[in-house]
Amino acid sequence: RIVYVNGRYVPYADAQVHVEDRGFQFADSVYEVCEIRAGRIVDEARHLGRLDRSLEELRMPAPMAESGLRVVISEVLRRNRVREGTVYIQVSRGAARRDFLFPHEATPPSLVVIARGIDPSKSAKAAQSGIKVITTPETRWDRVDIKTTGLLPNVLAKMAATEHGAKEAWFVDRDGFITEGGSSNAWIITADDRLVTRPAEHGILRGITRTTLLDLAAEEGLAVEERPFTPDEVKAAREAFVTSATNILMPVVQIDGHRIGDGRPGPQVTRLRARFHDIAASRPI
Ligand code: PMP
Repeated sequence: RIVYVNGRYVPYADAQVHVEDRGFQFADSVYEVCEIRAGRIVDEARHLGRLDRSLEELRMPAPMAESGLRVVISEVLRRNRVREGTVYIQVSRGAARRDFLFPHEATPPSLVVIARGIDPSKSAKAAQSGIKVITTPETRWDRVDIKTTGLLPNVLAKMAATEHGAKEAWFVDRDGFITEGGSSNAWIITADDRLVTRPAEHGILRGITRTTLLDLAAEEGLAVEERPFTPDEVKAAREAFVTSATNILMPVVQIDGHRIGDGRPGPQVTRLRARFHDIAASRPI
């Protein structure tokens, strides 16, 4: 396995960043996870656009031009012969003597690109039974719209989910509304057949899968409401699901031990999941 680290393609076992890398010391770094399908990045332009935005919001220099980054990513995929799986891209503000203040502007940002082959039948199989979620109080900072590697609340929440036999944790804000999952966006389909998901203006990461699913819903003329919803609404919903680049649409069949609908993946989420790549594939590379 070959990994790209700071200008070099190196064997996985030798892939290292410095002990004073700011990603390591301050979580002063941002990342993207993209789905690879048939050897191509799904929604590449949107992922690279969001990476750019994360960098800008944190006043972090880009490690290279977008065209160069595209070349590096495809080279990592090629060298690892990954056709189905994910690619992980991480940029940190670089390595410098530990100091809260930004390092000298000549400090090169760190860039790491790691590809991973994943058998797509795994996710397809999970989607046949659906997943369980738990709710947990929102403990994250106010800028979750930036995709940083400061993911400790997400780690703890997803760990708690696993310990409760669930696959995802949905954060609940102080007003009692669900924000999003530890690594996914949250959705319900109401009894009157409306797709509901929280607006991306505040409290969530604007998921790429979320955006593309909104495109698909618009194309199909489905009723969509971008508004916050509560755990009680989830319990009364016809269907529920999460979206993320790694699992596309994944049905949710239980929340905090309560069955949603008949406790099995619903027809609408199953259908949308099957259609998702049609629309993702029709988008420009
Ligand atoms: N919210 C959070 C907190 C996430 O970590 C992710 C996964 N990157 C998402 C939402 C889903 O985003 P995307 O569809 O771009 O993978």
